[in-house]
Amino acid sequence: MKKPVFIYSEDMLRYKFNEDHPFNQLRVQLTYELLRSSGALEDSQIVKPRMATDEEISLIHDEAYIEAVKKAGEGTLNAVSAENYGLGTEDTPIFPGMHEASALIVGATLTAADMVMDGKASYGFNASGGLHHGFRGKASGFCVYNDCAVAIAYLKKKYGVKVLYVDTDAHHGDGVQWAFYEDPDACTLSIHETGRYLFPGTGNVTEKGQSDGYGYSFNLPVDAFTEDESWLSLYETALNEVTAFFKPDVILTQNGADAHYLDPLTHLSVTMNSFHAIPRIAKKAADRYCGGKWIATGGGGYDIWRVVPRAWSEIWLAMNDIDLKGSLPMEWVEKWQKQAPVTLPLTWEDPDKLYKPIPRKQEITEKNALTLSKALHHIRDYTKNT
Ligand SMILES: [Zn+2]
Repeated sequence: MKKPVFIYSEDMLRYKFNEDHPFNQLRVQLTYELLRSSGALEDSQIVKPRMATDEEISLIHDEAYIEAVKKAGEGTLNAVSAENYGLGTEDTPIFPGMHEASALIVGATLTAADMVMDGKASYGFNASGGLHHGFRGKASGFCVYNDCAVAIAYLKKKYGVKVLYVDTDAHHGDGVQWAFYEDPDACTLSIHETGRYLFPGTGNVTEKGQSDGYGYSFNLPVDAFTEDESWLSLYETALNEVTAFFKPDVILTQNGADAHYLDPLTHLSVTMNSFHAIPRIAKKAADRYCGGKWIATGGGGYDIWRVVPRAWSEIWLAMNDIDLKGSLPMEWVEKWQKQAPVTLPLTWEDPDKLYKPIPRKQEITEKNALTLSKALHHIRDYTKNT
């Protein structure tokens, strides 16, 4: 029987801006080791990624931009060009070998995509991917190359399939949305904290696509402090209705873990209850509509100690139909507690009272429900009329 594959190599950790940058791929290793210590990841399921070729990267990115990234990584890009390409900013600083490190992350998502499409794996997971802010000709928001957008273009070209992209990162999946905004064969669904106060500021419910692609972009901007119940109800309803409407051949999910209450960069109040449910709901949709074709990536996630390893492990556990409850493996906790600046969690679940209840809960829930109906309004009409 086919098994899920976990794309991993230590080279993935080379995507590193600097010591103080919030984007830290140590979280990929932490996830990998947590799963290994839990006995949920077998040797035969681990697959090394390949590098994406320039030709593959150029399915989405301008050649001049790829050349600029190469030069930046070699230390030969001048300051004016760097600024023009969004390189060397506070968000996306230049680092040695940045082209190779970024191309490996794209290649890792393509490796997962090929194995799922060729029937060699049931599902594929690249925790190092999910760099959804990368633009055609510009780096943005910690993202150099947009592995998700490249993978969608690659899947369409090589396999002739319709792809549903589902983005549960706390930030709007702007780079992927704009890359396919006029394309009716790539449907994007992003649930995120409203852009009113948060980067990148887009992802309004009225962004629904353009020309032939009109109606194929879905955005659910939720209010700050949104909690599990409201968040999950929007996600599950939207995912099910959009999948039934679009009928994808394959689902690609971007599983940023920064919607968690503890994340330092965002303002949502989502807990591990949601991160347990998110991949299981995605898997159910893929099994029902796409013959199980599901590729998952990581994404944002800036509490790399207390949140990301558990949240991303849940994706892999969902793929393998494993449910782990209670204590985390002590071997993992003891090893990493020595390095962690915070106290590591001891269980898969969050404590019952992770935060104090807020009085606006009801108001936020009602507002989010209204957002959901606005986002799905055109397909609900469509279903009614056909
Ligand atoms: Zn994010």
